[in-house]
Amino acid sequence: MTPSATAVELKSCPLYINGKPVISTGPKDIQHNPATGEAVAEIPRCTHEEISAAVEAAAKAFPAWSKTPVVQRCKVLFKFRELLEKNAQELVGLVIEENGKTREEAQGSFDRGIECIEFACGAPTLMMGDTVDRVGTSVDSWSTRYPVGVCVGITPFNFPFMVPLWMFPMAIACGNTFILKPSDKVPRTAARMVELAHEAGMPPGVLNLVHGAKSTVDQLLTDPRVRAVSFVGSSAVAKYIYQTAANNGKRVQALGGAKNHSVVLPDADMKSTVAAVMGSGFGCAGERCLATSVVVAVGEIGDPLVKELVSAADKLNVGNGCDVKTGMGPVITDESKKRILSYIELGEKEGAVLARDGRKDPVANGKGYFVGPTILDKVNPESRVATEEIFGPVLSVIRAKDLKEAIDIVSRSEYGNAASVFTRSGGAARHFTQNVTAGMVGINVGVPAPVAFFPFSGWKKSFFGDLHALGKDGVNFYTETKVVTCRWPD
Ligand code: NAD
Repeated sequence: MTPSATAVELKSCPLYINGKPVISTGPKDIQHNPATGEAVAEIPRCTHEEISAAVEAAAKAFPAWSKTPVVQRCKVLFKFRELLEKNAQELVGLVIEENGKTREEAQGSFDRGIECIEFACGAPTLMMGDTVDRVGTSVDSWSTRYPVGVCVGITPFNFPFMVPLWMFPMAIACGNTFILKPSDKVPRTAARMVELAHEAGMPPGVLNLVHGAKSTVDQLLTDPRVRAVSFVGSSAVAKYIYQTAANNGKRVQALGGAKNHSVVLPDADMKSTVAAVMGSGFGCAGERCLATSVVVAVGEIGDPLVKELVSAADKLNVGNGCDVKTGMGPVITDESKKRILSYIELGEKEGAVLARDGRKDPVANGKGYFVGPTILDKVNPESRVATEEIFGPVLSVIRAKDLKEAIDIVSRSEYGNAASVFTRSGGAARHFTQNVTAGMVGINVGVPAPVAFFPFSGWKKSFFGDLHALGKDGVNFYTETKVVTCRWPD
């Protein structure tokens, strides 16, 4: 425990097993507020027995919950949504304290999370099967969707409220039971959500919560009672989750990391493009899986674009997200900050021009885990800063001579989460959309995050599996199809 940890009363973080909050007997880690560096809470690492009890509770609750009429299951979710709205300010405050987001970002992620519950409440129609009359003489055929069983969700630090809601509302609406393992860096928002779900009438065992990191996850991935695993996090861990869970006979959707590009064509509207690139590159301190990390400036727009970006970055108010005037908050941990700073150094060594050095901002040298907005220009497309996920407020600008070269640069990326194009030309936008190898495309949009009715469609190293989160993919992932072939004499 750090000396500061002993000076304040640390908050605790319960797990939930069979509808009841439990204080773990496992070892505890200290959670720090990223904006101040102060110790705020003790985060448990669950014991083997606690994790097993959570799986047991979910397995026991499954038969009754799966047979509960879908409209009744959704009624609990309607009530849950209402309670979240009622407690919105507290939850938004928790996201700011745990993750360091600005108030606007935390509120935005809250709204996007609520949208996922609203989508899940459509389960009565989303779960409908198909019917074909007379597939043969006197023979009809139809399909019906059934829940899968016990599902597990493992989530990252960057969206403590929203990403868990990509998973458990739809899983539960479809009749599954669930075990959530939130990020060990930000689990308190999830704990409050699970508490409110029970206040909304979630039956015991339907939604359980455990804490920890690798060993907790490993136990869940190998437990034979678990049928499906949803994961969101970095690519290396996503690949491991995908392979391990699949080897243990589970269905898996594992959403990984990203290296997203914004291609800016010479005819782009400068003002709105700069606003969109700034929001995408530096919003959430660059800790968004849809954050623009590389700007590909095409032709003569390069110099004026970099000048405008630097000027906008100079005006960005970096500080504690609690302050409404803050435009960018801290990164998640001191370790993340060090990693990001090492990438800035690397960029310089690789020959990039440091158009704006966020290391020099006073806030980057005080308390908390701040890195000022940084812009590397004339970056080599093959360099590490241009190809590896930095996950911080660092924009790399690559110069390209035309749209074809820009698309080639984007498509060479190992990742394929998102790519955006900024242009006034419909033809160029259409060509870009059809040829770029990324699963989420923005046209004059910096963060092309699909609304909940569409799947979150990463490609390449950004996704391992077949069915993505959300949209109809989400419904298909959390259900199994039974096809009936039926003969009755006419
Ligand atoms: P992470 O991979 O470190 O952790 C994600 C989850 O996995 C956490 O719950 C963590 O406790 C657990 N975990 C960590 N290491 C593990 C291991 N070795 N074995 C098993 N479990 C392990 O990711 P993070 O740092 O929390 O989140 C940032 C990453 O998530 C970035 O790469 C970002 O791009 C990605 N992300 C992707 C999406 C998407 O939709 N594709 C969305 C949000 C974040």
